[in-house]
Amino acid sequence: MKPSWVFASNNRHKLDEVREILGLHVNIVSLKDIDCTVNPDETGLTFEENALIKCKAVSEYTQLPVLADDSGLNVLALNGNPGLKSVRFAGENATDKDNLLKLLAEMEGVKDRRAHFTACLCLYGVGTNPLFFHGEVHGEIIYEPKGDMGFGYDPVFVPDGFGETFAELGAEIKNSISHRKLALNKLLSSGLLSI
Ligand code: IMP
Repeated sequence: MKPSWVFASNNRHKLDEVREILGLHVNIVSLKDIDCTVNPDETGLTFEENALIKCKAVSEYTQLPVLADDSGLNVLALNGNPGLKSVRFAGENATDKDNLLKLLAEMEGVKDRRAHFTACLCLYGVGTNPLFFHGEVHGEIIYEPKGDMGFGYDPVFVPDGFGETFAELGAEIKNSISHRKLALNKLLSSGLLSI
């Protein structure tokens, strides 16, 4: 029987992606499924710390193992920003569009457009210690948004080896090469799950 893990995110897109990638092997339970509305402050200084903060907060509400994802976009010419601040780049209640437009404004005139997405996944409650899995996908930031699939910075990120943004490529391709997929691959090959 598949194990059940709670996915500690209110981001519907992340939930869909994790279900798509892991769903064959794990029953991914949403926060909504367990009536959990906790939304902890992400006060960590690293993706790992923030992923662990999310896991610990949600584990108060469930006996099940908890999986969290802390992720972001690192742009070389912006010294790694927006990085940890990706979700709030344009301010506290910024929308994905606000963030993406601020990014393009900051990159006006910038020729070196290299960037990567980072995902840090934390699995909490399987064994004694939290387990971490990382993934990165490299690419470039284009000059104007293209495509309407995905979320966040997907409309401005073209992964290396492709001629379209994540938002144009769509879920099937994104979920086969993304930072999240690479991190989840490490989890899947860790021997944790009997597959
Ligand atoms: P978190 O919820 O604190 O982990 O912040 C994640 C933020 O990073 C998202 O809200 C997006 O702005 C950005 N991000 C992370 N992963 C992706 C992705 O797969 N596509 C687009 N943006 C992403």
